[in-house]
Amino acid sequence: MFKKFIIYAFRWQLSTPILWLVVRNLGMGISSTIIANLIGSAIFFWVDRFIFNAKKNKITELWQVKEESPCQSCGNPGALWRLVKTENYDRSDAKAVFLCRRCSQAKLRELEGRGIKAAFCHTQ
Ligand SMILES: [Zn+2]
Repeated sequence: MFKKFIIYAFRWQLSTPILWLVVRNLGMGISSTIIANLIGSAIFFWVDRFIFNAKKNKITELWQVKEESPCQSCGNPGALWRLVKTENYDRSDAKAVFLCRRCSQAKLRELEGRGIKAAFCHTQ
């Protein structure tokens, strides 16, 4: 959140030269300030949209599911799961390890401890 604020504060500073240029050329007054802000909004509408949506669009998660097989960790039979890819985790080229619901949940907790977050959770 603080990092986002810094980016946002910096982005506000970017509108300073626009305001300064317009006011300098058209004179200090309410109409030139309105023109400067119109120019600024035409540019920063897109910049703000990017700042506030960048994170949201980034999270994609890929899971592989295997039906009725023994878990590769505890050996219990059941439906098996494998997290292939998430925001800062990519095992698409690694050897596939399928885990039962319980072992997969434990693995997710372990990954979370390493700063890797998955939106999907087996307790849901
Ligand atoms: Zn298991």
